Amino acid sequence: MATSPAANIRPRVVVIGAGFGGIYAAKRLGKLPVDVTVVDRKNHHTFQPLLYQVALAVLSPGEIAQPIRSILRDNANTEVVMDEVIGIDAHARRVHLKSGAELLYDYLILGTGSTHSYFGKDEWCKLAPGLKSIEDATEIRRRVLLAFELAERQTLETGTHPPLNFVVIGGGPTGVELAGAISDIARVYMTRDFRHIDPSMAKVLILEGAPSILTAYPKDLQQKAVEQLAKLGVRVRTGARVTDVQPGYVMVGDERIESVCTLWAAGVQASPLGRMLAESLGMPSCLDRRGCVQVDEHLNPPNHPEIFVIGDLAHVEENRHQIPGTAQPAIQMGRYAADRVGLLAKDPAAAARQKPFHYFDKGDMATIGRKAAVARIAWPFHANWSGFVAWFIWLTVHIFFLIGLRSRLAVFRQWAYTYIRKQDGVRLIVGSQSLPGWDALATPPASSEDEATMAARS
Ligand SMILES: Cc1cc2nc3c(=O)[nH]c(=O)nc-3n(C[C@H](O)[C@H](O)[C@H](O)COP(=O)(O)OP(=O)(O)OC[C@H]3O[C@@H](n4cnc5c(N)ncnc54)[C@H](O)[C@@H]3O)c2cc1C
Repeated sequence: MATSPAANIRPRVVVIGAGFGGIYAAKRLGKLPVDVTVVDRKNHHTFQPLLYQVALAVLSPGEIAQPIRSILRDNANTEVVMDEVIGIDAHARRVHLKSGAELLYDYLILGTGSTHSYFGKDEWCKLAPGLKSIEDATEIRRRVLLAFELAERQTLETGTHPPLNFVVIGGGPTGVELAGAISDIARVYMTRDFRHIDPSMAKVLILEGAPSILTAYPKDLQQKAVEQLAKLGVRVRTGARVTDVQPGYVMVGDERIESVCTLWAAGVQASPLGRMLAESLGMPSCLDRRGCVQVDEHLNPPNHPEIFVIGDLAHVEENRHQIPGTAQPAIQMGRYAADRVGLLAKDPAAAARQKPFHYFDKGDMATIGRKAAVARIAWPFHANWSGFVAWFIWLTVHIFFLIGLRSRLAVFRQWAYTYIRKQDGVRLIVGSQSLPGWDALATPPASSEDEATMAARS
């Protein structure tokens, strides 16, 4: 099947990826005289900033993810296709889908985001899952909750259990959020639920290779973050480069650190679609070292005004600094690309006068735990805040940016319940009941007496 723009009078726009960039582009395109196809390999848009709350059982997946076709249902000019893009032919203006179908376009908006990077050690992925999707979040939830359940069962059976050490690799915003939330769940929400173990004895450790955590934040906020993590009982080790990840432990050089559950928040790389596009354009050099596509001031790769790369996949610089891979830049790029498509399609002269893309920086926030966060406010005034005030702003902003009234109400109700009653809502273990490395940790090494007995028996 090939859907041809020639058959249509109106320009056809294909939007690949319904993340923050793609969904805001598609919403804007809904008001323009174009025909739009949105392609995503998932049927839902995920609000990634709240994924960690699904991973740590505060929210359920349905509260932070909405079907793409529901979000765009009022756009009469838009169709949604659930499929994976596996190839781009920039010269034929054609997109290849995994199902075998092809889509032709007049304009292409590419916003397929980023993915985990294990720095070439992809085998670590099974032992230390990262957090990028709903599937990742429910897998992390399974592992964290299972560690407590196995400890309770083990104590019931043998009177003891291995230390509940959780290791988070990476001290960026996601690592800090995960570590703080594990501490919250252990020290606040589950304290009264077990009979044989004390969940608050769990230890959470962040291992960060750089000299500080939250490296994109001002120094004073980095320090505040370390202090707030310490209050939550989270230990931070900076300058600690993980050299191996194994079931039940990680290695930092020669040091072995026991871990019942290891999580990965250390590396990010661009979606492979960036490379596919660059190869199709015959310009592999337009990729940066993370695989992001370097685009011009109109978000186009060189010599292709009909192609826009937006969000995490785009490498955009302002004042010689790369715009960060966060939600606001993706949203703003999505809107800009849609506006530019509208101008190019309707009035190329006006398009020639359009101002270049400019990122309107409102600031950054990272939550650390219950009543703890850091916020760099850049608009409507400049300030660096931490603690309860930053946390409260974080809650408000995230409610505001969630897509859909139903999600906003549901998340508001769930947070009120969780933070006031100190009980979290979605503590479900779904799937396998085995935890990598648990059996080895739970079986104490045989004593020399045992070994002698076994040797005598054999
Ligand atoms: C755990 C976590 C926490 C975060 N917290 C914050 C935060 O607090 N504040 C903040 O501003 N930012 C945060 N971010 C970053 C923010 O979510 C991203 O910057 C933003 O989602 C990027 O938007 P995007 O549109 O570029 O890509 P994404 O939102 O990642 O969307 C990409 C879309 O493309 C689809 N896709 C990928 N490949 C294909 C393919 N081959 N075919 C079809 N579809 C495809 C995916 O299914 C997805 O729907 C966080 C990210 C994570 C992972």
